Amino acid sequence: MKLTRLLSLVSLSAALLSGSLWADSLLGPQSAPSRPKNIVIMVGDGMGPAYVSAYRYYQDNPNTQEIEQTVFDRLLVGNASTYPAPVSGYVTDSAAAATALATGVKTYNGAVSVDTDKRPVPTLMELAKKRGMSTGVAVTSQINHATPAAFLSHNESRRNYEALAESYLNTDADVMLGGGQRYFSDKLIKQFEAKGYQVLKDAALLDGVTQPKVMGLFADVQLPWAIDEPEARRLSTMTAKALELLSQNEQGFVLLVEGSLIDWAGHNNDIATAMAEMHEFASAIEVVEQYVRQHQDTLLVVTADHNTGGLSIGTQGEYRWDSQVLRDIGASPSRIAAKALTQDEWHTGLSELLGFTPSAKEFTTLDSARMQGEKVLTTQLKKLIDQRSNTGWTTGGHTGVDVQVFATGPASPLFAGHQDNTDIANKLISLLPKMPKPKAEVKLPAKPASEVTPTEETPAQNEENGELQQAKDLLSEGAESQSAAPVTQVDNQA
Ligand SMILES: [Zn+2]
Repeated sequence: MKLTRLLSLVSLSAALLSGSLWADSLLGPQSAPSRPKNIVIMVGDGMGPAYVSAYRYYQDNPNTQEIEQTVFDRLLVGNASTYPAPVSGYVTDSAAAATALATGVKTYNGAVSVDTDKRPVPTLMELAKKRGMSTGVAVTSQINHATPAAFLSHNESRRNYEALAESYLNTDADVMLGGGQRYFSDKLIKQFEAKGYQVLKDAALLDGVTQPKVMGLFADVQLPWAIDEPEARRLSTMTAKALELLSQNEQGFVLLVEGSLIDWAGHNNDIATAMAEMHEFASAIEVVEQYVRQHQDTLLVVTADHNTGGLSIGTQGEYRWDSQVLRDIGASPSRIAAKALTQDEWHTGLSELLGFTPSAKEFTTLDSARMQGEKVLTTQLKKLIDQRSNTGWTTGGHTGVDVQVFATGPASPLFAGHQDNTDIANKLISLLPKMPKPKAEVKLPAKPASEVTPTEETPAQNEENGELQQAKDLLSEGAESQSAAPVTQVDNQA
């Protein structure tokens, strides 16, 4: 244990207790608690820093001199490294990153909340459930995709979709909204209904839901691209409903919201679709930001799991990025291509959906691409949009750059500065209410790691966790007695 780090945590705890970190500056009213009752974690899948900057310019009002702030600019507090366990190098996938964010444990790429020995590790959601809190996920991918799966379940591989879907029967999660009908057979759905779940396949029915438990499967796999349904506002609608349902629990809740398809658009190197997904994710963040303003006992933390595509704002040596091109596009390149293939006089319709009329030379290229089918035409349209907007990409996969961290609400200063993605989970876990302690203080020998089960609370797996646990104890004891506890009273049982 490094004394300086412990002292800094102690002083941070003391500052939190006195309210000096936020009472005047961040939250305003003195009534804000030092520890959140509710936690909302939002993950922009693949949302590296370039996406956040690009979104600012995408949102810029061309009729004003200044470049307007986005919700991301408003809530930025720090950044996070995303590297997985050494066995997978420096570049993470969504499963290892989500495991880090959900459990505080680094693992191999593809792992769903199991460690490098494939042993399940307890998740934030499971620990919240043990405390009587409600839990929920709202995502734009299938609900059993890597990120939500790592918060709710365990599997040695993210690809075991059927097993993950079935495992959700035992999560006791209160709200699960997204896509994934393909993975939930009628038989499995009956089992969910027997457990008290209302299962919906039509998003329009969500409005009528007044209480948990609810499972919404609104697409075969992922939800439609936001760019193709700009009025649907699917993620922000699901987020608002999840907040409404989960807030019925007096013990509080933990909610995961994921803008899953930012990553999918990034893998496709599709800037127009990516920006529309960013906009829907930003809208969902604003829904939660508004909730936090009205419920000052709610902490919001937003981050990304990794960066996708190596997006570049400007490319080819040219100092230019034209966001107006992207704002004018009326459909995803794949949809524009599909339409163009059904029409003989396709030039006009394509120009309308693209928001600009390609030059004669550009049309020649599109012509020959169209003759090779939808896939080739889609690729050519993306290339054309990249050229017009001057957008660059370095990969169809992920990259290892750090991601940003955004937060507001009680304890949000804990997320300031640089941290690792596992720190985010450890901080969130440390902010959960304390478990009731056994009456007698019995000194037990430390358990070997092999005896760890996912249902046990065992965050003290490294030095960092030990410190966070102490900060947590100081916070909670201070909250009870209004004075910082001596450093020697450390709870090693947890
Ligand atoms: Zn990805």
